[in-house]
Amino acid sequence: MEVRPFNDISYERFLSEEKLMGSRCWKCGAFFVPPRCICIECYGTEMEWVEIKGKGKLVAFTCIAIGPPSMIKEGYDRKHPYVSGVVELEEGVRVVARIEGIDGSKPETIKIGIPLKVEFLHRGEGQDLTTFLAFRPL
Ligand SMILES: [Zn+2]
Repeated sequence: MEVRPFNDISYERFLSEEKLMGSRCWKCGAFFVPPRCICIECYGTEMEWVEIKGKGKLVAFTCIAIGPPSMIKEGYDRKHPYVSGVVELEEGVRVVARIEGIDGSKPETIKIGIPLKVEFLHRGEGQDLTTFLAFRPL
């Protein structure tokens, strides 16, 4: 099997293949999503790819009413804010991702701790095709 370098390009390529991947340090077992090529715990440089199962819980969130052009294009604005959150994965690592399937205009209804499942959002076409990491309530 081809071993991809532990960088953002590989991470995004895995996302486009609908895989959420992290790197784990051989020496101390520290785990990173997105991947790192050098361990920030022990400075080890021996890493291995690990596929994340894709389940976690919401630990923090924010509702964004004024987004970048790409989000405005998707229909998000002051009346339809989108949700960005911190998800604690079952593997114990926290990632920032879009949270789909919940109403960003009613933040008071969003509960911390709700179980979430990974989702891959493919946007654009051809050379501009990008895959975004997202989570949705189970
Ligand atoms: Zn380490």
